[in-house]
Amino acid sequence: MELYNGDLYWPTTESEAITIARPTKKERYDVLVIGAGMSGSLTAYTLHKDGLDFAVLDKGKVGAGSTAANTGLIQFSNDIMLHELVEQIGETDAVRFYKLCAEAVETLDEVAKTVGAKPEYIRRESLCFASCEEDVTKLRHEYEMLTKHGFSVDWLDRDAVKERFSFEKPAAIVTKGDAEVNPYRLSRQVIRYLTEQQIPIFEDTGVEEVVSDGNGWLVLTTNGTFHANHVIFATGYGASPLLDFHRIDLNRSYAIATEPIDNFDVWAGNALIWETKRPYLYIRTTVDGRIIAGGLDEEKPETPYSEAIVRQRAERLRQEVEALFPTYDLTVEYAWAALFGESIDQLPFIGEHPDRPNLYYLLGYGGNGTVYSMLGSRLLSDLIRGVDNDDARIVRLDRTQQANIVLP
Ligand SMILES: Cc1cc2nc3c(=O)[nH]c(=O)nc-3n(C[C@H](O)[C@H](O)[C@H](O)COP(=O)(O)OP(=O)(O)OC[C@H]3O[C@@H](n4cnc5c(N)ncnc54)[C@H](O)[C@@H]3O)c2cc1C
Repeated sequence: MELYNGDLYWPTTESEAITIARPTKKERYDVLVIGAGMSGSLTAYTLHKDGLDFAVLDKGKVGAGSTAANTGLIQFSNDIMLHELVEQIGETDAVRFYKLCAEAVETLDEVAKTVGAKPEYIRRESLCFASCEEDVTKLRHEYEMLTKHGFSVDWLDRDAVKERFSFEKPAAIVTKGDAEVNPYRLSRQVIRYLTEQQIPIFEDTGVEEVVSDGNGWLVLTTNGTFHANHVIFATGYGASPLLDFHRIDLNRSYAIATEPIDNFDVWAGNALIWETKRPYLYIRTTVDGRIIAGGLDEEKPETPYSEAIVRQRAERLRQEVEALFPTYDLTVEYAWAALFGESIDQLPFIGEHPDRPNLYYLLGYGGNGTVYSMLGSRLLSDLIRGVDNDDARIVRLDRTQQANIVLP
C-alpha cells in the first residue's frame, strides 16, 4: 500500500543521515515494537524510560512512513470537539481524554528537549474559527465546555478575529498550550537518541508473521526469527495483523509547503489555524518562513495515481490560504497526497488484543496521531508492566464492536 505520493517537505530538512549499526540479536526480548515511525519511536522512548528490555523492528527506514507526510500540528483539541465527545462517551471520560491529550503535548515537549538536535518543537496557540455563521453556536458550546473544565481558551468575536488575524470570520476560539513540530526529525532524533542508549533498532526487518510460541510470541521477519513476551504493533495505516474488528476509514488527504515568504509578516503568534467545517483547512508556519496547509480530504482509500491531481489540489489549498491572507504572494514548493486513517468514533485504537494476551496495538488514527502516540505509549508501558491504568478503557481496541455506541 502506498502511504503517500508527490513531493514531501520534511525529508528535505534533514541533511544528516542517521546511521544505525545492525545490532546483535538476543535470544528473547521482553517486548518487540514493530514500526519505527512516530508511534514506534515514542513507544520505544517510553519503554526505555520505564526500564523495559525491548527492540524495535521496521521493514524500512525510521520515520519514512506516514510520519514523513505528517504536517506536525500538535494540539490537545481533537477532530471531535470536547462537547461532541461528551455526547458520545459521557463527560467524565471525554474530559479525561482531553486532559490526557493536553498532558501528552507537555510530555512531547520534554521528549523533544531530551533528544536534542532541534526537532523544531515550538509551543503555539491554536485558532479555530467558525467557518460559517451557523457554526458559531457550536463553537460557543465548545468554548463553554473547555472553560468549564479548566482548559485555557479565549473567545474572539468578529472584530477580535479581524484585529488579531486580519481575516474576517464570524467568531473563533484560541486555545493555549499547543505546539508545532518537524515530525520526521522528531521521530528520527528519538531513534538516534535510543541507539546512543544501546537500544537495538533493526531497520529493513519486515515482520511477516506473529505466532504464539507457548511462552509468548514468535515473530517471523525478513531478517530472521525473533522471540518476545510482548509484541506491540505500531505499524501505522498499513495492515494490522491479527486485528480485524476495529472500525476505520482510510481516506486521502492533501498538503502543501510554500516557498519561504519574503518579509514574512506572520499572523498573531504564528498560531496553528483550523476551522469548524469538515473536512477542515489547517495552516501553520515553519521555522524557515514557509506556510504549510492541509485538508481537502476525500473518501478514497488510496493515494492518487496522477501527479496532476496532486498539483490541482495543491493549487486549491494555495488559493484557500491566499483567501485568508491576500497580502502574501504564495508559491507552492512541495505538494503531497497521503493516506489518512480515521476511526468511526474518532478516537485512537490503543491497547491489548482482547483475545490474544500480550499482543498490543498503537494505532493513532485521526488528525492528532502524534499526541495519541505519546499518550498511547504510556498506556502500553503500564499495561505491559502490570500497572493499573484506568484510562486504557477509553481507547481500547474492541470498543466500537459494542452495539450501543452513540456517535454525535
Ligand atoms: C497529510 C497528513 C497530515 C497529518 N498531520 C498530522 C498533524 O498535523 N498532527 C498529527 O499529530 N498527526 C498528523 N497526521 C497523522 C500522523 O501522520 C500519523 O498519526 C502518524 O504519522 C502515524 O505514525 P505511525 O508511526 O503510526 O505510522 P508510520 O509513520 O506509517 O510508521 C509505521 C512504521 O511501521 C513500519 N511497518 C509497517 N508494517 C511493518 C511490518 N510488517 N514490519 C515491520 N515494520 C512495519 C513502516 O515501515 C513504518 O516505518 C497526519 C497524517 C497525514 C497523512
